[in-house]
Amino acid sequence: MFTKASSFLQKLTGWDENRGAQNSGGHGDDPGLPNVYNAPFFYGRITRQEAEDILKANGMQEGLFLLRESITPMGNFSLTIAHEDSCVHYSIEKKMNGQYIVSEGSPFSDPLSLIEHYQTMKNGFITTPKVPCNRQPEQEAIAFRGLSVKELHAQMKSAAKRMNANLTRALGPMRESLLMHVLQTLHERMPWFHGEISRDEAIRRLERSGHADGKFIVRRRADGQSFALTLSHENAMRHYLINQVDGESYCIDAGPRFKALIVLIDHYHNKKDGLPCRLTSPCPDPNTDLETWENYQLLTKNLVSKTSQPATVFTSNGNPGTTPPSRPPPIPRHTSNVPTRSPPIPSPLRNELRQSLGAEQLWETPNLQFGEDDEDDTITFPEAEPLSTEEAEMLENTYIDIRGDVMSTDLKSDQVILEGKLGSGQFGEVRKGRCEFGRKTVPVAVKTLKNNDPDGEKEILSEANLMKKLDHQHIVRMIGVCKGETLMLVLELAELGPLKKYLERHQTMKTWHQLELMVQISDGMEYLDSMDVVHRDLATRNVLLVNDHFAKISDFGLSRIMDSSTDYYTAHGPGRWPLMWYAPECLYYHKFDSSSDVWSFGVTMWEIMSFGARPYDKKKPPQILNYLESGHRLVIPRNCPDDVYQIMLDCWQWDKADRPKFKELKPKLHRLCKRYQQAQR
Ligand code: AMP
Repeated sequence: MFTKASSFLQKLTGWDENRGAQNSGGHGDDPGLPNVYNAPFFYGRITRQEAEDILKANGMQEGLFLLRESITPMGNFSLTIAHEDSCVHYSIEKKMNGQYIVSEGSPFSDPLSLIEHYQTMKNGFITTPKVPCNRQPEQEAIAFRGLSVKELHAQMKSAAKRMNANLTRALGPMRESLLMHVLQTLHERMPWFHGEISRDEAIRRLERSGHADGKFIVRRRADGQSFALTLSHENAMRHYLINQVDGESYCIDAGPRFKALIVLIDHYHNKKDGLPCRLTSPCPDPNTDLETWENYQLLTKNLVSKTSQPATVFTSNGNPGTTPPSRPPPIPRHTSNVPTRSPPIPSPLRNELRQSLGAEQLWETPNLQFGEDDEDDTITFPEAEPLSTEEAEMLENTYIDIRGDVMSTDLKSDQVILEGKLGSGQFGEVRKGRCEFGRKTVPVAVKTLKNNDPDGEKEILSEANLMKKLDHQHIVRMIGVCKGETLMLVLELAELGPLKKYLERHQTMKTWHQLELMVQISDGMEYLDSMDVVHRDLATRNVLLVNDHFAKISDFGLSRIMDSSTDYYTAHGPGRWPLMWYAPECLYYHKFDSSSDVWSFGVTMWEIMSFGARPYDKKKPPQILNYLESGHRLVIPRNCPDDVYQIMLDCWQWDKADRPKFKELKPKLHRLCKRYQQAQR
C-alpha cells in the first residue's frame, strides 16, 4: 500500500522503507508505524510558528519544506514550504474516504504521495516542496507535547496486545478507534498530571517549583470525574475547571471540546484560546522519575519558540528548580487622563458585573473573545495577489448585478463550488469558492456549518436574514443561502482577508492610507446606522480587504436590527463578547446602539494606528473597567498624530450623547486623509 511513497522517500532522503516496522519493535503481524509518521521531514503536532522557526533555523532555501500534523483538527496535515524568504502553509485535509487533498486538488492515498506529486507539478502551489528539512538524528516527531509519535505507537501496540486484538487490524484499519481508546488514559503518564490532590496542594507544589508564566499542574478533582488546571501567570495562580461533557468530551467552560484530556492540554499548549497565556512547562508530579522528566523535556525543548519561557531546570538533587519570575510589563509611553464625567454606576450592579466577568470567582473562565488568539492553522493559500482598482471595481459591479437576481431565491448546491479554506468561524469553516449563474461565474466566500449544529444553523440564518437587507460598497454583501447537505451562507469575497492581519504584515503603512481605510469603515457604519442596524462587533478582525485600498465590514453574527419602539438594543447577557471593544454602557447595562458602535470604531482606529496590536495589552476585563472609570483611555499609539488620536478620544466619551455620530466622523476623517495624503505622497 505504501510502496510508491516509500520509494519516493528513499530517493529523497535515503530513508529505509523497513525502518518504520523495525523502529516500532514490530512483531510478525505488526504493520509498524505508518510511513508518513516515520518520514524524516515529519515533525508531528507542532504549531505553524514552530514550523516557520525550524525552516528559518535551517536557512530558508527556496522549496525547503517540512510536514507536520495539523494542531486542529486531528487527522489533517500541513505542509510548510520556504518561498522567497517567507513561509507558505498548505493544509492537507483527510477526507471521509481516507484520501488526502490540498484544497480542490487531486486526492492521494497518503500525504507522502501528495508531496511527491507536488514536487513535479506546481498545480496551484506557489513553489514546489523540493528540499526536505529533516529532523536532527536525535529529534523525534511529537504526537503530543512530551510524547513522541513512536512512544504513542508503542502504547497503542501494548493496548492492542492487552486486548488480544489482531495487531494488523488494530494498528491498520482500526487505528483511529485504538488511538481514541489509548488517549483516554494517557494523561496519567504525563509529568503534569498529579492525580487526585487538593487545590491547596496544587498551589503548594506550583509555588515550591517557582512561578513562571504558563507553568501548570493538572489534577483530578475529588468527584472523580472532573479535572482542574492550575496555571501560573504574572506570579499569580489561576484555576480552571475541566469538565467532562456527556461523559466523553473535555472542555474548559464554553471553550472547545476534546476527546481526551491529553488533547485538551496539548491544545492549550498551542493556543491560549482565552487563557491568559499558553501552557509552557509543567510543574512535574513529585513521583515523576528523572528519565521520564528528561524525556519529556527533550521532546518539547526543540519546539519552544524563542519568545517562550525557558523550561524548568532540574537541580542536582533531582528536584525541579525555579525559573526566574517574568518581567513586569513595560510602562506605557503616554497615559492620557481624559476628563470625563463620573460614571453613575450603582455598586451592587458593579459587583455583579465584576463577578460575571470572572474577578472573584472560585474558577476562572477563559476570556473568550473573538479573534483574540490568532494562531490559526487554516489558511490554505498564501496571501492572494491584490486586485487592481479596475478589477476591484469590475468585481463590485458583478456582485451588484447578480445580487438582485438571486436574493429572493435559495442557491442550488450545484451552483456553489467550494475551494480552499479562508478561515474559521464560530460554527464552521469559511471557504473560498465560486458561484455559477448561467454562464457567469463569480468568486465568493462561503460560510459553512460544522456537523449541522442546530444552534449554528439558527445563528447563520439570522445573520443571513439581517445581511440580505444590506447593500453598500463597504459592507460585505450576502449573495445567497444554499441549503444543501449543510447550510452555506454565500458572501462577496474579500480576498486580502482580515484588516488585522494585513496591518500586522504592513507595519510601514502611511498615515493617509490608514485614514483612507477608516473613512471607508465610517462610511459603511454610517450606512448601518441609517438602516437601524447595530453591528456590536466592529474590530479590525471583522473588516476585510478586497485590495490594499478597499475595505468592507463583515461578520454580522452579533448584529441586531433595533426595535423601532426603543433607541437601543438590550442583550440578554454576556456571551462570547468582544469586551475590549465595548463601551461602558454595553458592559454595565448590556445596551447597544450606534453610539456604542462609535466607541468600538474608536478602538478599531486605535488598532489601525497600532498596526493590529491588542487593545489594553494584558489587562483583564475587570481591570479595564477600573481603568476606564478612573478616566484613563487607550494610550496614543506610537507615531499616531494628535489630531487622529483626538478623534479616538471623542469616540470614547463616557456619556454616549457626547460621542460623535458616524455621519460627522466620515467627513472629518476624509479631510484629515486628504491633508496627510498631500503631505506624505
Ligand atoms: P467570520 O466567521 O465572519 O468571523 O469569518 C472567519 C474568517 O473567515 C475571517 O476572519 C476571514 O479570514 C474569513 N472570511 C470571512 N468572510 C470572508 C469574506 N467575505 N471574504 C474573505 N474571507 C472571509
